[in-house]
Amino acid sequence: MEVDNVHLRVLVDKERNRVVYAEAGKDFIDVLFSFLTLPLGTIARLVAKKSNIEPVKFGSISSLHQSVSDLDQQYLTNQTCKEMLLNPRNSMEPYCHKLKLNIDDTEPMQYFLCLNRDCRRNSGCLLSTFKNQICYCGEILSMEVFPNCLNLEDGFVKENATFIICDDLYVMPNVFGASLQLLQKLGVDSVDAIEEQTVVDLLKLSLISKAPLTDFICKNQSFDNSNLKNILIGDMPSDEARQMSVKVTLRKSNEQILFVEAEDDFIDFVFSLLTFPLGGVLHMLQGFSSLSCVDNLYKGLSELSSDMFLVSEGLKDKLTKPLIATQYELNNQILSIDATSLPMNYCHSYYNHRYQRYVTELTKEIVYLNYNRLVKKNLYDLN
Ligand SMILES: [Zn+2]
Repeated sequence: MEVDNVHLRVLVDKERNRVVYAEAGKDFIDVLFSFLTLPLGTIARLVAKKSNIEPVKFGSISSLHQSVSDLDQQYLTNQTCKEMLLNPRNSMEPYCHKLKLNIDDTEPMQYFLCLNRDCRRNSGCLLSTFKNQICYCGEILSMEVFPNCLNLEDGFVKENATFIICDDLYVMPNVFGASLQLLQKLGVDSVDAIEEQTVVDLLKLSLISKAPLTDFICKNQSFDNSNLKNILIGDMPSDEARQMSVKVTLRKSNEQILFVEAEDDFIDFVFSLLTFPLGGVLHMLQGFSSLSCVDNLYKGLSELSSDMFLVSEGLKDKLTKPLIATQYELNNQILSIDATSLPMNYCHSYYNHRYQRYVTELTKEIVYLNYNRLVKKNLYDLN
């Protein structure tokens, strides 16, 4: 197995067998912050895999992911919708490309136009990030184009910065400098062999453990999962003008919801949760989810000085409020989360009969093929 040289220096309280804190540089902190960019559906998919730790469930998001996977194609608007939900794209993908350890195995974004030259010559031609969709003209959108506005960024934090990570995943700049060297005799371990599988372990632990670094470093197999018991959840602002109704069947004795009958708009909404990036959900919940370590990770990022520690201006804003990916926006999304819009230019060449030569033009307006509906209009039961 190829071992990357991402490493951590860890101060361990050997008596209590606990990590006091860890010191890490860009490579590791970028990986931690990339967790916040992952769509919930991607997290559910990744933690369902076996790594060094057994597969874990990401609460009801895992069930939702499974139900989409089990759903017969006939209920969805088209074939692509299932792929969109099971492998949702990461709107911060350009920042994650160069990560030394990138656990997100979602296919990179591609861009397709139709083969019909007349369409491409016109402004407002249709573009899809999924292959083989149908254009206005009836042709298939199968010609891959490479937008020139997409620059790959070099992760999130600055190259030479070092950070302290607490056992509960709160990250802060390492202003103490060489403190770990002084404490070396107290029990500093160096963890060198961090590779993708161990990052998946850490992602799992951030969801189920209250002390993810201790469990990660000490390779504990039973976790202090009181992390999940804290259900103080922040208020989620919603747009009251947009409403959906559902028929709820309750068990009278304890008022537990048995199931809900809903129309397609509600199912679209529930399925769309899979496409929300973790950081975007935390932003909506004002930093308080039911997962205390994820909250701490988010808090550490929110408190980090952008100028001093992040690679570019405006990145903190993007990372603390990641959007859903282009083309994942529902028409009637009831929650206040937006999708990224990519202002796109692309070049194309065609034979111009008047000048009798090939010319290259920059087309300015591209219209994204709009999905905005995931499931077909029908009645659905939700358990
Ligand atoms: Zn066309």
